[in-house]
Amino acid sequence: MNFEIYPSLMCHRILFVLFLFSTGISYAQENATMKKYAGMIKAEELKDNLSIIASDAMEGRATGSRGQKMAAAFIANHFHEIGLEAPVNGSYYQPFNLYSTSPGSAYIKVGKDRYENFINILYTGDDEMEKEATSEIIFGGLGRDEDLNQIDVSGKTVLFLMDKLSFFTMTQIKFKSEKAREKGAKYVFAVPSFSSEDFNQFAASFKSLFSKTSLSLEKPMATHAYGEVFYLKKEVAEQIFNTSFKSLQNVPQNQLRKIKPGVVSFQATRNFITVRSENVLGYLPGTDKKDELVIVTAHFDHIGKNASAEGDVIYNGADDDGSGTVAVLQLAKIFAQAKKDSFGPRRSMLFMTFAGEENGLYGSQYYVSNPAFPLSNTVVDLNIDMIGRTDSNYKDKGRYVYVIGSDRLSTDLHQLNERLNQTYTHLNFDYIYNDLNHKERLYYRSDHWNFAKQNIPVIFYFDGLHEDYHKVSDEVSKIDFDLLALRSQCIFYTAWEVANRNERVIVDK
Ligand SMILES: [Zn+2]
Repeated sequence: MNFEIYPSLMCHRILFVLFLFSTGISYAQENATMKKYAGMIKAEELKDNLSIIASDAMEGRATGSRGQKMAAAFIANHFHEIGLEAPVNGSYYQPFNLYSTSPGSAYIKVGKDRYENFINILYTGDDEMEKEATSEIIFGGLGRDEDLNQIDVSGKTVLFLMDKLSFFTMTQIKFKSEKAREKGAKYVFAVPSFSSEDFNQFAASFKSLFSKTSLSLEKPMATHAYGEVFYLKKEVAEQIFNTSFKSLQNVPQNQLRKIKPGVVSFQATRNFITVRSENVLGYLPGTDKKDELVIVTAHFDHIGKNASAEGDVIYNGADDDGSGTVAVLQLAKIFAQAKKDSFGPRRSMLFMTFAGEENGLYGSQYYVSNPAFPLSNTVVDLNIDMIGRTDSNYKDKGRYVYVIGSDRLSTDLHQLNERLNQTYTHLNFDYIYNDLNHKERLYYRSDHWNFAKQNIPVIFYFDGLHEDYHKVSDEVSKIDFDLLALRSQCIFYTAWEVANRNERVIVDK
């Protein structure tokens, strides 16, 4: 309904007045109040905040980095300044840890010589050896069943010959080493028929593979993905058995024991990395429906810096998800202002910005496992991730937003979101990414997914995978602040309605 009444249409005005008396003035007043506060969402303020959140000083806000922590402090202080309560034991921060491992040192010693990992030797395991082991090492031929049957590997280290080193041959050695361990072997060494240069090249490529660590919420366990195997260069094997590689290759079948055992010492360790991070939460208590909670979320982390790049090295993440973060800050401010003016929400509201999103939605995953308020009382999560840009599908095609997930759990939520937009903000709602079978799988790709998994209705607002997505060029200068303000208003109306109407959003799917 439009509130503008033309003077010439007096009968309409009379009808309208009658309408107000018959259906309740409070509803109209409520709409006027809602519109008034929606109007307080200002492009300039969004720009002011985003110019800080996505500035170079924040260094791309990589989870656990000092830049991310600066952004967290800014958000927490914003929540404090506008009068939100700190809901996590009196703090705005909800801390959590992420973990990863990387190879530590691994070496073997033969006589007086010591060989380090990735040069001359390659250790592919992820066992943590507390101290150096010294062991007899026996020759195990090619490590086949017929080879293992003629030697006693129990309590010893066994060495196998192999073809060239590759991921395929490593898998074969992994199975052989598991068999040897079943027979009591302590460790397995393997020697490929590689030249020294080829070996070191392969070992170096493995190092870079191992150095790409990914973070996880759980402490990583040993996976034994590549087998607990020390690979050695031919020359090292020759030293161990004091004979040539050729003669090892030429040992007749059934005569493996002709090779005199050697002695080796070795150790392998891993580096465990703990990344400390935090979600930032601001709480606005409701009035008569205080126990129910409406959540508005965005992630404030991004992907940091590109250390190997030249020129611009900072992933500012102005759109991803600086835009959502400043929208949350702005909505929080306006709902807090409304409360000061005695128009506080009936349901409680939680304004929450997550870290760890870019690493795997970890901040939101942590929150739903450790919720500040019962999930059973959580009515809805409105999640905002990238709403400040226009993608290539919509160049010069008007104002739109991709709406994802609104109808998955609640027809009610979907319909009210539609209705409010048609009444107030008139964005083109595009549901293309709402298709679960869409190849981009966006329904699973932002923090709302962790709430949806808990059967909490969600809406994910999104502007598309534009050309600067996850590039250093995702800059503040490319944000359309009027569009960001309009989309924020659209989300505001839905938030206001779900926080204030009589019925809790109905879950019907
Ligand atoms: Zn992202």
